[in-house]
Amino acid sequence: MSQHLITEEKVFEELKKAIVETLRVDESLIKRESSLINDLGAESLDFLDINYRLEQAFGMKMARHFVLEHIEEMFGEGSAIDEDGRLTDKAIELLKIRFGNNMPQLQAGMDVDEIPAMVTVQSMVQGVTDILNSLPDKCSNCGNTAWQSDDGVKIKCGSCGEGATFTNGDDLIKAWLTKVQEEKNIF
Ligand SMILES: [Zn+2]
Repeated sequence: MSQHLITEEKVFEELKKAIVETLRVDESLIKRESSLINDLGAESLDFLDINYRLEQAFGMKMARHFVLEHIEEMFGEGSAIDEDGRLTDKAIELLKIRFGNNMPQLQAGMDVDEIPAMVTVQSMVQGVTDILNSLPDKCSNCGNTAWQSDDGVKIKCGSCGEGATFTNGDDLIKAWLTKVQEEKNIF
């Protein structure tokens, strides 16, 4: 379900905090359109650190693998990245559906190595928001529908106090790919 306890603005704030703590950059430099790598100086290991901080803050599991890896796993080797390390047209089509305006530089024939630099603050906000929206209707512990949040970051059951459990990021991507494939028959 889509949830309203944690606002998108709050997700942005928490992400900024995680970025400041990990990269030691000034908060004023962090814009929604900032590339983590090109604008904020992140290296690949920093993403693990940022993800970990987000997981701790929101009580969720971020995706360990990017969409492209899931495409290859689901639709076969070479389905997302060709022998020359370039993105296939089908992969581009899927990425455009998923990230649209958040990754305006996506274009046919681009090298897979160009992708990490396209991860922006806003695309990470989207990733967290998607996971938050996997909040189940009912608490898995007591079965009541009484979600609440005292701090606007963590969701817990107002009835029994149990923390919310979300679908993990990788499972969400797989479910999304399955749904898009059923609807559009890309592969
Ligand atoms: Zn409960």
